[in-house]
Amino acid sequence: MSEIIADKKVVKLQYVLTDAEGTEIDKSHPDHPLLYLHGAQNIVPGLERQLAGKTVGDVVKAVVPAAEGYGEKRGFKDIRLNRSQFPADAHLAAGMRFMSQGQDGRMFPLFVKKVQGPTVIVTPEHPLAGVELHFDCTILEVRDATEEELEHGHAHGPHGHGHGHGEEEEGDEDDHGHAH
Ligand code: ZN
Repeated sequence: MSEIIADKKVVKLQYVLTDAEGTEIDKSHPDHPLLYLHGAQNIVPGLERQLAGKTVGDVVKAVVPAAEGYGEKRGFKDIRLNRSQFPADAHLAAGMRFMSQGQDGRMFPLFVKKVQGPTVIVTPEHPLAGVELHFDCTILEVRDATEEELEHGHAHGPHGHGHGHGEEEEGDEDDHGHAH
């Protein structure tokens, strides 16, 4: 079985993500490497493209322009909401993502920028929009995806991710793949 990263392979890797200035944005937990299904848009397109063809043990330093990451900044205006528009038990903090329904009925993500007393300032702009992403990845494992994984469009981990598909993709939107 080939250990070359390609479509329909499940890849396990450790990564550190920094911006162009070297400020750390995110990283995988030492005990919980990132697990993703290649070719299923589980991770940002620029990183997926640069991981293709790599293999176990490879260290991949990928510089991903914003356009191939979380997109360019689109200059959305901030939206001011009232705390009362959220569920009473919602824990609101900067960086939090939630889904909102537009006038056309479509769901779209909003990100909390700031909570000021009863006012919650949100934006449709992804916090990493316009940011050049610098990934430092170490490939730990490459294996064939199972039928079930291909059907679901994501990897199933060995880390006891429970598998409740009741909720609609409410992940933490940081490309850890999916929220099981
Ligand atoms: Zn699944």
